Amino acid sequence: MAMDFDHQRTSRLTPDRRPGLQLSFEFFPPKTDAMEARFWDTLNRLAPLKPRFVSVTYGAGGSTRERTLRMVRQVKSDSGVDAAAHLTCVGASRDEVDAVIRGYQAAGIGRIVALRGDPPEGAGKPFEPHPQGYRNAADLVAGIRRIGDFDVSVAAYPEKHPQSPSWDADVDNLKRKLDAGATRAITQMFFDNADYLRFVERARRAGISAPIVPGIQPIHSFTQIASFAARNGAKIPDWLAERFEGLEDDPETHALVAAAVAAEQVLELVDEGVTEFHFFTLNRPNLVLALARLLGRRPERLEADAAVS
Ligand code: FAD
Repeated sequence: MAMDFDHQRTSRLTPDRRPGLQLSFEFFPPKTDAMEARFWDTLNRLAPLKPRFVSVTYGAGGSTRERTLRMVRQVKSDSGVDAAAHLTCVGASRDEVDAVIRGYQAAGIGRIVALRGDPPEGAGKPFEPHPQGYRNAADLVAGIRRIGDFDVSVAAYPEKHPQSPSWDADVDNLKRKLDAGATRAITQMFFDNADYLRFVERARRAGISAPIVPGIQPIHSFTQIASFAARNGAKIPDWLAERFEGLEDDPETHALVAAAVAAEQVLELVDEGVTEFHFFTLNRPNLVLALARLLGRRPERLEADAAVS
């Protein structure tokens, strides 16, 4: 079979010929002083990469409501990076959720990642809306847009949401969220790029034109990520498990393999034409810094560009 060795990969183009990229970084609200120190250290190291926004998650059932607001507000005021607050409608009435939205508005937060959320027992249990609550994420997006002109992101599932009866129902649900006023979708973690590319194709066929930003999960700890994936209905392919097999007690090789795996994933996506990425940082900077560098994102270049323009 003849190979096209001259084929120019987008990820290997010189910076002047590479398409521009948009990055966003997801954090979780810290619980302890030590975790809070790590949050700020990570943010300070990632902020020079000039992300479009940094988002802060909303703990199950709204358990982090105050902390999410405090962190998002402080990200914006202290680092100057635009911030997005996640919001779910689990276990809360519309009035309660609306009060949180108005709180974000009053704090000058213009971006929300709008989610249904999962029952306190976990994603395995069926979701029961609060009797006076928003029924699902599409309903929440409509509520947010009634209150203000927020930039709203919603969730998408390249491997189908575990509770979706079919692919059509899943894509229809995403379309409803976008039609209700969301600007973009951010995907659940996935490790087989083919799943993402097939999902984007399905969405485009269903008339969805909004960006579907891949959610990239660097594997800081394979054991931890495999358990997150199982809880969220994302699969760990056999080839990925094999790469990490036996590395539990070898952190150095684990870190090198994790960097190689994530690098392969993002560079392949760039070659497929992807220009927007959302990184689940788990409040750790190293792998994200390395990936941004491979994507050609350098603080010094951004400074130089800003100085010229
Ligand atoms: P929805 O889009 O409302 O629905 C999910 C599924 O339910 C649909 O695929 C569909 O099958 C079914 N469904 C809903 N409505 C209908 C309908 N009318 N008819 C038929 N089927 C329907 N969780 C948190 O608790 N806090 C966070 O901060 C958080 N951040 C996240 C960030 C990202 C990028 C992602 C991908 C997920 C995040 N989650 C978070 C997890 C999310 O809350 C769960 O995945 C949850 O199970 C679904 O939320 P959703 O917004 O996709 O729900």
